Amino acid sequence: MKNIRDEFPALQQKVHGKPLVYLDNAATTLKPQSVIDATERYYSTDTANVHRGVYLLSERTTEAFEGARIKAQLFLNASEPQEIVFVRGTTEAINLVAASYGRSAIRKDDEIVLSTIEHHSNIVPWQLLCETTGAKLRIIPVNDRGEILANEYEKILNDRTRVVSIAHISNAIGTIHPVKKMIQLAHRYNAVVLIDGAQAAAHISVDVRDLDCDFYAFSGHKLYGPTGIGILYGKSKLLEKMPPYQGGGEMISSVTFEKTTYNRLPHKFEAGTPSIAEAIGLGAAIDFIHNIGLDAIASHENELLSRATHAIQDVPGVRLIGTAEQKGAILSFVMDGVHPHDIGTILDREGIAIRAGHHCAMPTMQRFQVPATARASFACYNTEAEVDSLVSSLLKVREIFH
Ligand code: PMP
Repeated sequence: MKNIRDEFPALQQKVHGKPLVYLDNAATTLKPQSVIDATERYYSTDTANVHRGVYLLSERTTEAFEGARIKAQLFLNASEPQEIVFVRGTTEAINLVAASYGRSAIRKDDEIVLSTIEHHSNIVPWQLLCETTGAKLRIIPVNDRGEILANEYEKILNDRTRVVSIAHISNAIGTIHPVKKMIQLAHRYNAVVLIDGAQAAAHISVDVRDLDCDFYAFSGHKLYGPTGIGILYGKSKLLEKMPPYQGGGEMISSVTFEKTTYNRLPHKFEAGTPSIAEAIGLGAAIDFIHNIGLDAIASHENELLSRATHAIQDVPGVRLIGTAEQKGAILSFVMDGVHPHDIGTILDREGIAIRAGHHCAMPTMQRFQVPATARASFACYNTEAEVDSLVSSLLKVREIFH
């Protein structure tokens, strides 16, 4: 653990005179030195554009950039590198699928199925698609623990279902959806399934071939990597058929004013100069995760979650929001008579960073009838001592308000 923590420069600082306890990992993770170095190397010595140059620097950069794609392919166990599209993040990945797959395959009265507890970036792109096509959203309800109602899901699926788009792990309340089973059921109706893996990829191992999902999306910055880079995995037989998302350089094969033909996969979906340093940094982040091992990360984070879940029950007036049996390392809660923002502000004075708000999941807040929650979310570098200081600081919050 000490070795892991030593790799993160941000963990070496104090906040308001206290050692930083960073528990907002669902928003973004801190970055290890290896990721910072990989990004810095690009900007300091290996600066060049990719795919075009006939000189050494460009060749070296292209190799590192395409190498990061292969790392992402192996990370997700995709069949081929061309199934890995570099995007800005999960949000762009979902928008790409909604716009491109949506434009080619969705018609009036088709149905798109989401769960109640999705992030806005897995709701709004589909609403935009519904507005232009006349398709409809169908929403899978969840029980009071935050688990989808499986029989309601089965009732919603029908011959008009074209897309099922669900989070692997809910960012707001931590539920792990039973995605493999949900994918199997959706495929019975020939619907395609997108899994929003923003909260999963850095926490549990993902095998897109085993899941048999059609699309999988995640963001580099929640996986110890840089901002501005993410991955859209898509089955190549689907990506082949989909029209380009954006037009520009790189995505073409030839251009005349009469007719343009498009580049092969994945470049067809990567118009313009990509986020080169960020993609290389993401490759380094994947290496970082490999070096620790996702199973070790998952079991460590599970221990932190279960310690926090038990200890927080001793804080009077605290109620957990999201108590699913299968949960990622996310603890969302409210405290009687104290607004989550006040919890966040008081914890900040103790050096503890948590998130307070609706977590870009307003329908989730509506379902649980709370305006907002406080949320602590864990990563590989968090410790039991940090969980304990979270809980003791919550007791202080309680004292201040009562
Ligand atoms: N989906 C989920 C479940 C998320 O947690 C997030 C980020 N909070 C997103 C999508 C959007 O990710 P990004 O902002 O990196 O595009």
